[in-house]
Amino acid sequence: MKGICVLGATGSIGVSTLDVVKRHSDLYKVIALTANTNIDTLFEQCIEFKPEVAVVVNEQKAGEFKAKIAGTAIADLRVLVGAEALVEVATLNNVDSVMAAIVGAAGLLSALAAAKAGKTILLANKESLVMLGDIFMQAIQESGAKLLPIDSEHNAIFQCMPAGYIAGQDAPVARRILLTASGGPFRTTPVEELHNVTVDQAVAHPKWSMGRKISVDSATMMNKGLELIEACLLFNMQPDQIQVVIHPQSIIHSMVDYVDGSVLAQMGNPDMRIPIAHAMAWPERFDSGVAPLDIFAVKHMDFELASLERFPCLRLAIEAIKAGGIMPTVLNAANEIAVEAFLDEKIRFTDIPVIIEKSMAEFSATVADTLEHILEADSQAREQAQTMIKALTT
Ligand code: NAD
Ligand code: MG
Repeated sequence: MKGICVLGATGSIGVSTLDVVKRHSDLYKVIALTANTNIDTLFEQCIEFKPEVAVVVNEQKAGEFKAKIAGTAIADLRVLVGAEALVEVATLNNVDSVMAAIVGAAGLLSALAAAKAGKTILLANKESLVMLGDIFMQAIQESGAKLLPIDSEHNAIFQCMPAGYIAGQDAPVARRILLTASGGPFRTTPVEELHNVTVDQAVAHPKWSMGRKISVDSATMMNKGLELIEACLLFNMQPDQIQVVIHPQSIIHSMVDYVDGSVLAQMGNPDMRIPIAHAMAWPERFDSGVAPLDIFAVKHMDFELASLERFPCLRLAIEAIKAGGIMPTVLNAANEIAVEAFLDEKIRFTDIPVIIEKSMAEFSATVADTLEHILEADSQAREQAQTMIKALTT
């Protein structure tokens, strides 16, 4: 029986994780669940999974949550408040596996703490890996933690790597990664119409059901940019060894090209329970609850090159990883601020890359060798992006 802590339990990945846990309650026991503000979902999850601890990051919501559980079946539940509690539950002794599914840089310190504590990390939060880079991978190595990618593409690549492959290792027989992308909702929208895109259109992903932030990232293809950076770290590859491939059917979730010319692909229905179940059962396999792939319904598969003119965010991410140092952190921070402003309808969809590019131009790629340096770059880049947004909107 393994103890699991689900960071970001109330989000899209968190909910899918608990759906898989429910199918394997003989193998997994929920130790801790965390939420930021969504206490109604957290309450229902606590009633169903009876964790030992629940974390509510938002202080006001935590008060409401405590009032809500009084007199119910979970009245004795230990409730922790605030961001520090995320680190506490991610490192509890009886936690073996940590699902890192908080969105954005808010997931960084808890993911890093789990890495340092030697846990099995099921990593969905790509932003923490993008920001921390080698620091995260080194923490994994030093503690002996196991790192299993949840992002569907990286989970697919992991499955296609040589037998016994461990994240972060060199695999010289794998010469290239083909990182697939659906192309998002605006793959064929005329470029001159993109500035009129609404929030509802941007978050309506054609193939995947996901949280709002990553849905916007998919529409700009910043998601693929972050994933390219993520892949460089997870599979120890250079940016030029990673080819982004638009594959609108989203059946192949990525491929590995070997030195002998063999190309291995992982396929399946677009449902995050597949990578989640893969990582939870690894190195075995178990049922995810996902219907078998109907290959005859797929009929055909298309592959297209991603245009860096249509998707400037992808270009910016490639520039950031090539520049190295703090630049991926700056890219990520400016993107988080710009996406939030877009979701709040303060800026246009096409302003997102402009804000990121202008913010990046204010920084040079100094080395990112300490957590403090990275956090400082993160907060400076957020400030810079806010300034750019103000300049645009006033
Ligand atoms: P979501 O918005 O649905 O859920 C986010 C979760 O994070 C919620 O539980 C929320 O309570 C928590 N959270 C938000 N802000 C917080 C804060 N400041 N402090 C603590 N907790 C906070 O997001 P999601 O779609 O589930 O994505 C989660 C992560 O997984 C992201 O990093 C995303 O890039 C990655 N990911 C998601 C998918 C997907 O299919 N949804 C696929 C691949 C990777
Ligand atoms: Mg992905």
